Amino acid sequence: MAASDLMPVDEAFNQLLAQARVLTEIQEQPVSDALGCIVAESPISGVNVPPTDNSAVDGFAIRYQDYQQQGTLPVSQRIPAGIGPDPLKPGTAARIFTGAAIPSGADTVIMQENTEVDGDTLSITKAPEAGQNIRPKGQDIEQGEALLDAGTRLLPQHLGLLASVGIDRVRVYRPLTVAILSTGDELVAPGRSLQPGQIYNSNRDMLRGLITAAGWRIHECGDVADTLDATRDALSDAAERADIIVTTGGVSVGEEDHIRDAIQALGQLNLWRLAIKPGKPLAFGHIDQTPVLGLPGNPAAVLVTFLMLARPFMRRCQGEAGAVLPSAERVALAFSVERPQTRREFQRVRCHEENGRRWLEAAANQSSGVLSSACWADGLALIPENESLDVGDEVAFYPFTQLMYG
Ligand code: AMP
Ligand code: MG
Repeated sequence: MAASDLMPVDEAFNQLLAQARVLTEIQEQPVSDALGCIVAESPISGVNVPPTDNSAVDGFAIRYQDYQQQGTLPVSQRIPAGIGPDPLKPGTAARIFTGAAIPSGADTVIMQENTEVDGDTLSITKAPEAGQNIRPKGQDIEQGEALLDAGTRLLPQHLGLLASVGIDRVRVYRPLTVAILSTGDELVAPGRSLQPGQIYNSNRDMLRGLITAAGWRIHECGDVADTLDATRDALSDAAERADIIVTTGGVSVGEEDHIRDAIQALGQLNLWRLAIKPGKPLAFGHIDQTPVLGLPGNPAAVLVTFLMLARPFMRRCQGEAGAVLPSAERVALAFSVERPQTRREFQRVRCHEENGRRWLEAAANQSSGVLSSACWADGLALIPENESLDVGDEVAFYPFTQLMYG
């Protein structure tokens, strides 16, 4: 196949993202159980955080002017965190603790390390600055403030922020349900014995992991026989039950490959031959409103095309705004690429540090059917199309942790 027949990866990526629509409805989710959900509507704070001016240290609350006018101050009240204090009596100090509300009339807190107390009389041993050691009301969040942009993926700190304003429910998009459909008459489920010509289905468990890691639900379609009828029936059923369909195998142009014809019979299809390695054939289409992504059959190609194309598209369909492909790190190659290639290659690599610099080492076997190298590796290196590279040249490195969980 001529290189010019192949679609550049960036073009496929942009086309996919341009066609992504939010696929699920909005639901209310307890904040305590909302990790990883995508915010559909920005929550508004009903309170100030902190709700009142409060002390940043253990010490004594005073009026600065009193310090200027008096050598010592009598201690007139004690304010632990959690109580509403009385107004400060003029000319006195209040014993105060970290997080406790500043009494009205006080404007400065003296750290206890800078004081001496004799009975009930306070002496200040280091000149204070007016207003010091007070955390002002609303310094974190103001009442009426929009807290999180729609499209934000909820990380632990977002849950903490919502809790800090007393919010216990948040409006998010229902998580996607993703149908997984494996094609291939040669496939056998792990746990059974293999007959001649058969292989185990490794894509299914890998895809289940990839989808679960992203926080999505799975609709399992099972194995589908390599016939047009069976493929069509399975896709049609999946389109009714899931928000999005991912298939593996059967996407080439051989007579045992039926994904293409089945999608075309049921809806619209774009079949792309991508300038990507491993990968190349990728089907993208819709059955009614349900997007279908037809990934290749070879497991390492499934891993790469899922992470670099399908997952970013699905994150958009989940309502996520902003960057849906994690940003890459620039890391030096410990090997050279002598012959420029027409396809962009995602090599399985391991990153190690030597002499204060990080280096990428390539897995020995980069075949699209080989998963052991993906297990040895800790990420993917983008080897650009049409370039030769020397040892020490830097390329984009995507750690698996970022690609799968980031
Ligand atoms: P295909 O595109 O259907 O011709 O598949 C390409 C290669 O991937 C063939 O060697 C298949 O046996 C293999 N393959 C397809 N699906 C799977 C699967 N679920 N698990 C492991 N290998 C697969
Ligand atoms: Mg097949």
